[in-house]
Amino acid sequence: NESLAQYDTPLAAAIAEEVARQEAHIELIASENYTSRAVMEAQGSQLTNKYAEGYPGKRYYGGCEFVDKVEALAIERACDLFGADYANVQPHSGAQANAAVFMALVQPGDTVLGMSLAHGGHLTHGAAPNFSGKHYNAVQYGLNPETGEIDYEEVERLAREHQPKMIIAGFSAYSRVVDWRRFRTIADEVGAYLMVDMAHVAGLVAAGLYPSPLPHAHVVTTTTHKTLRGPRGGLILSAHGDEALHKKLNGAVFPGQQGGPLMHVIAAKAVAFKEAMSQDFVRYQQQVIRNAQAMAEVFIERGYDVVSGGTDDHLFLVSLIKQGVTGKDADAALGRAHITVNKNSVPNDPQSPFVTSGLRLGTPAVTARGFDAAECTELAGWICDILDALAEGGDTAAVEAEVQAKVAEVCARHPVYGAAVA
Ligand code: PLP
Repeated sequence: NESLAQYDTPLAAAIAEEVARQEAHIELIASENYTSRAVMEAQGSQLTNKYAEGYPGKRYYGGCEFVDKVEALAIERACDLFGADYANVQPHSGAQANAAVFMALVQPGDTVLGMSLAHGGHLTHGAAPNFSGKHYNAVQYGLNPETGEIDYEEVERLAREHQPKMIIAGFSAYSRVVDWRRFRTIADEVGAYLMVDMAHVAGLVAAGLYPSPLPHAHVVTTTTHKTLRGPRGGLILSAHGDEALHKKLNGAVFPGQQGGPLMHVIAAKAVAFKEAMSQDFVRYQQQVIRNAQAMAEVFIERGYDVVSGGTDDHLFLVSLIKQGVTGKDADAALGRAHITVNKNSVPNDPQSPFVTSGLRLGTPAVTARGFDAAECTELAGWICDILDALAEGGDTAAVEAEVQAKVAEVCARHPVYGAAVA
C-alpha cells in the first residue's frame, strides 16, 4: 500500500507536471473545466472496484446494494436538474451516449441528418471517419456563411429531400442559441426522431441560462465534464414519459454498447448534479457567459471577425481569414505564452481542418478559477497582441514572453486547487 509517488515515480511525476500545467496556464478550450474536489474524491473512491452490470435492482452481480444507492441518487438528481423523467447515467463518454442513441433509434444504413464537423457539429453527428458516418447514411447541414448561424432553411430542405430517420441538433462550436423547437418541427414534418446533444451547454441549461432542449427532443445526450463541471462521462435524458423508449435506450447502453458501468464515475456525476442545483452554480454560469461576451467584444474592437458577431453562450469563434493567420500558428503562439486554445474551422475557411483559419475560445475553465470580466477583457487583449504580431509577420517571441509573464501573475492570483492537490 505504498503511495503512488513511492510506487511509481515517473508516473507520479507526470501527474504532478500536469497539475502544475493546469495551475500555471490559462485554459480557454471551451470543452474543458476544473471539477471540484468532492467530484474527484468520489471518482477516486473504492467504487472503482465494483462490477455492477445491469441497472439498480436488476444487476448481474452480487454485492450491489450500495452502488445501487449511488446510481439511484445520480439518476434522481439528473432528472431533477434537467426536468427529465428518464436518465441513464452509465455512458462512459459523450460519444458512447450518442452511439447508444443511434443503436436505440435507427438501424445501420438508415439516413441521419446532423451538423457537419467543419461547421461546429461533433464527430458523432455523422462525420465520415466516425461510426455515425460509416454505418449510417449521414447527411450534413451547416452554417449560413453570411450570418455564421445555423441555416434552418437548409436543415428543412435536406430533411425533405433525404427523409432522415433521425435529426441530430447540438454542437461543439456554436455561440448562439439553437432553436430546438424549430428542429422538432422539421423532425415532425418528416417523421424523424430528434436527438439533441447538449454536451457543450449542459451547465448553462442546468442553470436556466440557455433554453432546455428537453421539451423538444425525443432524446437528449450530454457529456458531464464541460460546462456541467463534473467528471468525464456521458448522460442520456428524456422527458416524455415514453417507457418503451426508455427501455430501448437502457438496452442500447447495456448490453448494447457497454459492459460494467464505472460506478466511481457515476458517484462523481451524482456529486456534480448536486452542485449544479446550487445558487453558486447559477452565479458561476452567469459569469461564464459574461466573461465570454467581454472577451468577444475585445476581439471585435481590435478588428477581428467573431463568427456570428458575438456570443450567447460560453464560447465564440474568431476568424483569422482577414488577417491571413492560420489557426494552427495562432494556437502554437498562444501556447508558447501559456494560453491554451484550439484551432477551429470557420465559415468559408480556405485552410484544411488540420490548419484552419480560426480559434475557438471558451470561458468555463477561467471562470471556474475566478477570473472576472475585467480580467477576461485584459486576457483577450493579450491574445490580440499576439495575433497582431503574427499578422504583421515579424518575430513574435518578445510579445509571447511578455504575455507569458502576465499569465503567470494572473494564474498565481487565481489558483485552481491550491497547494493541497498540487
Ligand atoms: N458531443 C459533443 C457536442 C461534444 O462536443 C463532445 C466532445 O467534444 C462529445 C459529444 C463527445 O464527448 P466525449 O469526448 O466524452 O466522447
